[in-house]
Amino acid sequence: MKPLSQLLAQDSFSRGDLAQLIGLHDPAEREALYRAAYEVKARRVGRVDYYRGLIEFSNICVKNCLYCGIRKGSRGVRRFESTLEEILEQAKWVFGHHYGSVVLQSGERTDPKFIDFVDEAVRGIKRVTGGRLGITLCVGEQTEETYRRWFASGAHRYLLRIEESSPAFYAAMHPADGRHLWQVRHECLLALRRAGYQVGTGVMIGLPGQSEEMLADDLLYFRDMKIDMIGMGPYIVAHDTPMGRAALEAGLDTEAHRARRFELGLNMIAAARLLMPEANIAATTALQGLNRHGRELGLRAGANVLMPIVTLPRFRSSYQLYDGKPCVEDTSAQCANCLTARVRWAGDEVGWDAWGDSNAFFERTGQRPAPGQAAGSGGAAPRRGRTIPICGEPQSEPCESYQAEKE
Ligand code: SF4
Repeated sequence: MKPLSQLLAQDSFSRGDLAQLIGLHDPAEREALYRAAYEVKARRVGRVDYYRGLIEFSNICVKNCLYCGIRKGSRGVRRFESTLEEILEQAKWVFGHHYGSVVLQSGERTDPKFIDFVDEAVRGIKRVTGGRLGITLCVGEQTEETYRRWFASGAHRYLLRIEESSPAFYAAMHPADGRHLWQVRHECLLALRRAGYQVGTGVMIGLPGQSEEMLADDLLYFRDMKIDMIGMGPYIVAHDTPMGRAALEAGLDTEAHRARRFELGLNMIAAARLLMPEANIAATTALQGLNRHGRELGLRAGANVLMPIVTLPRFRSSYQLYDGKPCVEDTSAQCANCLTARVRWAGDEVGWDAWGDSNAFFERTGQRPAPGQAAGSGGAAPRRGRTIPICGEPQSEPCESYQAEKE
């Protein structure tokens, strides 16, 4: 074990270094880690956070991941599909509220009707926003041909979580039916990169049986794969799933387990920022699922992307990948107010109207951001710092929605 001050002064990290950072538990040591990561964020990508309006347009999925609340085998889920018109209306709302980018997310399907529908949605969004809204897709494993088709239609970022960089651990979290294969997912990430996307991936953090060394391996996988965007969050039980039932029966979902998973989630963000200073890193909704200040604390630990949910209110309760997902009862407008207050609390600014593309992508490809579409370090000017207790409570109340949450 190295002294923490020595570790935080390094600019390269071994597996052991990362495991030590990820495993920190002492509040003062975690605070030092988050401060170091936030300084790197401020220096390398700026104190500007970018919004991606998240449209969860369908919960129909052909897969059966053992941890997921909308897996094909979940019988209690009411299945839905948004229409193209609904998606375009939501995209216009996102554009009109100056978010800069949208994420289209759904369960996984590979049938021709679905592929055509996504293509139409991408082209439609480009059309109704004059090409000015950035589009990220998060619709699972597809052929390289499909990825290329959607890219040509206007999508330019793609999120596909590897979930676990260890093929053996991945296999333990998925059915052994020959349709949930780590190698396929890994190959998809390579195909996305060849197709020209900014590529994002991530993992679940704090799973039963997952060590700090395994999490360090996950970060090294991101680095070695030259990943542009990272979206990872703490594991939260979905009670009506095989993994959720096993965790509940084994007593592995107590308050203490959830608190530790939250700590690990922040530690992973901070360690990722130190290891990959130019990457875009999301403060995911799952953080807030375990701690009401989760997302702003994620920003203070080095994240620079938020994904406000803009899913139609009548579908939100049917898109619960895990129990207790936040924002299910809120409108898009409430989410917008609430998140902006959280960003300001963190001492950052929102990069309004900017795509907020990944500096790591521009570094990897030698491309430059399009005029007016700031990369991570562009956008609004940084605010002068004020001291915020990273592990503690923020200092003032941001908005009515947040106030309601506290009561
Ligand atoms: S994690 Fe994704 S692919 Fe797996 S069951 Fe859930 S929605 Fe489908």
